[in-house]
Amino acid sequence: MRIGKKAILFDRDGVLNIDSGYVYRYENIRWIDGAREAVARLTEEGWLLFVVTNQSGVARGFYTEKDVMKLHKQMNKEFRKYGGNITEFFFCPHLNGAEISRYNMDCNCRKPKPGMILQAINKYGLIKENTFLVGDSRRDIEAAARAGIKGFLFEGDNLNLFLKNIFREKG
Ligand SMILES: [Mg+2]
Ligand SMILES: [Zn+2]
Repeated sequence: MRIGKKAILFDRDGVLNIDSGYVYRYENIRWIDGAREAVARLTEEGWLLFVVTNQSGVARGFYTEKDVMKLHKQMNKEFRKYGGNITEFFFCPHLNGAEISRYNMDCNCRKPKPGMILQAINKYGLIKENTFLVGDSRRDIEAAARAGIKGFLFEGDNLNLFLKNIFREKG
């Protein structure tokens, strides 16, 4: 437990990698410009970094939780090559109305619900005032608001530049 550390929760698809729809193989990952550099720089600056990602592809039967976890391991390996680290990847495999019954639920973790964010906050003893979310959809920003943290909508081309501008004063 590292209470008091400042933290950033990233949405994954559209923020770290290009959202080409239900990506689950590492060979299909295309990185957002500046994403690996941003993760490295923020890690070096002492931020705790997390991913919070909806993965309804699991509930839809496109891929498995195991696939998601394997992909996240491979992504983190790449981040580490750059000197960065994601402390934990949280993902929601559920979908209300999904055909696979064990994933068919109106869970509290699928954004815009705040469950994954609250899970990270509770597990790591994060302080809400020092915890931020970066997402590329309104759903992410709404989830952040419901969790009581500030969310930033990534609309730029380069994640590293985008974050440098935002956290210049907060860093
Ligand atoms: Mg996204
Ligand atoms: Zn869920």
